[in-house]
Amino acid sequence: MKITIKLLLVVFLFTLSCKKPQEATVNTTTSVVSKPYKNYDFNTNALLQHVKTLSSNAYEGRRTGTRGAEKTRDYIINQFNQLNVKPLNGSFEQSFSFKAWGKAYEGVNVLGFIKGTDSLKKHIVISAHYDHEGIKKDKIYNGADDNASGVGASIALAEYFKQNPPKHNVVLAAFDAEELGLKGAYHFVDSKILPINQIGLNINFDMIGRNKNNELYVVGANLYEQLKPAINSISLPEGFSLLSGHDGLDNKEGWVTSSDHAPFHKKGIPFLYFGVEDHEDYHKPTDDFEKIKPVFYQNSVQTIIEVIKNLDEMSF
Ligand SMILES: [Zn+2]
Repeated sequence: MKITIKLLLVVFLFTLSCKKPQEATVNTTTSVVSKPYKNYDFNTNALLQHVKTLSSNAYEGRRTGTRGAEKTRDYIINQFNQLNVKPLNGSFEQSFSFKAWGKAYEGVNVLGFIKGTDSLKKHIVISAHYDHEGIKKDKIYNGADDNASGVGASIALAEYFKQNPPKHNVVLAAFDAEELGLKGAYHFVDSKILPINQIGLNINFDMIGRNKNNELYVVGANLYEQLKPAINSISLPEGFSLLSGHDGLDNKEGWVTSSDHAPFHKKGIPFLYFGVEDHEDYHKPTDDFEKIKPVFYQNSVQTIIEVIKNLDEMSF
């Protein structure tokens, strides 16, 4: 997830002015305990292993254009191949060039395709960015929550769809260069590799692996109300919350353009974005695998699968 520099500046200035450092400390004693689901539609250990691997130092923080990013793509494509996910339009990789803050980059999206059983024309594009901040001042930004957690969820979905083929066509997109301004997602939409009128829906994951109150947010249902029944009808494990909000209609920070769902929304394509509120390790070298909360993360992924099961029954 990306917060604008302007907002960070406002927060920084506010922090400077309010002089209440005790409020900035994290209270770990109030952690809410969440029960697991009775059954999961994916291998829960494999899910954690994906995040552990992709956020290990060997992947060097997955910065766009680096060896770590290339290694990440190889990992995702290898998983897709094992799970019968096909390349979209003949290739898993979609390359693009762009400039960010005066520097030229080469980005590469990973695009997998799962054919729907009902020969429906509309596709559900499921996305999670795989890039992160790389190495800065000799520190590796491993980005376990941001966003190895989202990529792990996409692989778990591929596993689910292998056993339970979707009715709609599904594109599994691992976007590059989100951290540099959602570049991979914008390129995907603008490239028309999939015509806009064939995209029925975007489901985006960005940071779903930890929250001290066991709260996962879903953004978009207050803007695209036709999606609400897919969310409201699921039953959640005790202590785990799926909250609707942050869509610019409440008094919370708006997340409508904060991640890769933004280019879809701007084209009028309905979206649901799943993510947690920022934590103390957000965009820091301490966003590590050890901080992921296994039960919360597994519950997030299963909750997302439950919502997607409902969405796949709908028509767009
Ligand atoms: Zn992110």
